[in-house]
Amino acid sequence: MFGVFGPGEDVARLTFYGLYALQHRGQESAGIATSNGSESFGLRTGMGLVSQVFDEEDLAFLRGQIAIGHTRYSTAGGSLACNAQPILVRDRETGEQIALAHNGNLTNADVLREDLEAQGVRFESTADSELIAHLLAMAPAGTWEEKFHYVMRRIEGAYSLVIMTKDVLFGVRDPLGVRPLCFGRLGNGGWVVASESCALEHLGVRMEREVRAGEVVQIDGSGMRSFSPVAPLAKRAACTFEYIYFARPDSQFMGKLIYPVREEMGAQLAREHHVEADLVIGVPDSAIPAAIGYAREAGIPYREGLVKNRYVGRTFIQPDQRIRAAGVSLKFNALGDVLRGKRVVVVDDSIVRGTTTPRVIQLLRNAGATEVHMRFASPPIISPCFFGVDMATKSELIAANKTLDEICAHIGADSLGYLSVEGLNAATGQSANDLCNACFTGVYPINVQLEMDDMSAARRDPVLAAADSLNRSGRP
Ligand code: SF4
Repeated sequence: MFGVFGPGEDVARLTFYGLYALQHRGQESAGIATSNGSESFGLRTGMGLVSQVFDEEDLAFLRGQIAIGHTRYSTAGGSLACNAQPILVRDRETGEQIALAHNGNLTNADVLREDLEAQGVRFESTADSELIAHLLAMAPAGTWEEKFHYVMRRIEGAYSLVIMTKDVLFGVRDPLGVRPLCFGRLGNGGWVVASESCALEHLGVRMEREVRAGEVVQIDGSGMRSFSPVAPLAKRAACTFEYIYFARPDSQFMGKLIYPVREEMGAQLAREHHVEADLVIGVPDSAIPAAIGYAREAGIPYREGLVKNRYVGRTFIQPDQRIRAAGVSLKFNALGDVLRGKRVVVVDDSIVRGTTTPRVIQLLRNAGATEVHMRFASPPIISPCFFGVDMATKSELIAANKTLDEICAHIGADSLGYLSVEGLNAATGQSANDLCNACFTGVYPINVQLEMDDMSAARRDPVLAAADSLNRSGRP
């Protein structure tokens, strides 16, 4: 998500470049909404990458002083054009438009949807984000503090939000602080809100700070103010998977730059699972810092042994039988000169279903590696995520269904090691009380309906499921 309050600025273009920097957070659809202070917003949304959705004509159409944008990665609601964000609704009392972009997942969406439908709300999408927009539009008239109090008392789960009215920009973070959100000063009275600090830096905007858990940041012509509409919780639940995989290495999360945290995860992994080897390689791109950290701590040379084709994307066409039978990967290629005759430690960030890792290991063996020791810079994923990372259902998670020895045999490694939860927490430098590790422990920071897992699997359209498995070809 990205938002700009920038009188006199080309806010749509700034948002376009901001979304470009956040493309890694979602590749299914993108959208930008703008306000020029009038009663109607400009809006462009479409399926695909930011570069595919917007052209110069769109940016020329999207005029105004405020803009918000979103790149979507579907969790709840599916990969449908109607679920592209920002979402527009009208305030029931004033008739004013509200635009909203959401990152995360509500855990009480089904109950809220039933409630709102009973009150006559007609939904245009299947995404839980629309519930938040309607609740805000229905909130009794009053101050913004009162309106957000009304909404945040009702919604549960993970939500970082960027919201725009005709003259105000808001950044909102749930009381657990699950997903990231930060803001910075644009100059000339302008402000920028973004999911990750890397998006600010690409625009030359210095980060002011992260939005705090449970905080609403309100930006308008009179400047920035902030308030906390609901009582603070005793704990936070920042997603450790942001540190492991999701966020970009040049972003900050909870005051820590991601890159050195990943290096430390690798170092910790080396301390926990040392093995005699000739070289350490990482699975590009997200595991490279952890591999460097592992190599340094273990005193084993780090080399690049795998090269990734960065253009194998979400609209990828299934490899035919000839390519599959050849046992190669269209996503990765192995460097034979580096690997031949070597005992190799391979560091990856995580293993979810266990479909990609066996292929990577086979690729390394085909390239001449004599031993392949697999190391994951995360603990085993044993439980699904209900807070905005669509990993898989429990029945699909390899670590939920196999022992370590069975996983090692399944992936074809000579040895296998996972980072411990304690090691992961230590590498983040945060207190365990402020982190969510639910997918590694099965202990959720708030009550979740465990049947959500089955429900979301049943709801999943078969075509979407097939697309999902393709899209996950890059995930281990
Ligand atoms: S369950 Fe896992 S992926 Fe989901 S928020 Fe918690 S740590 Fe992150």
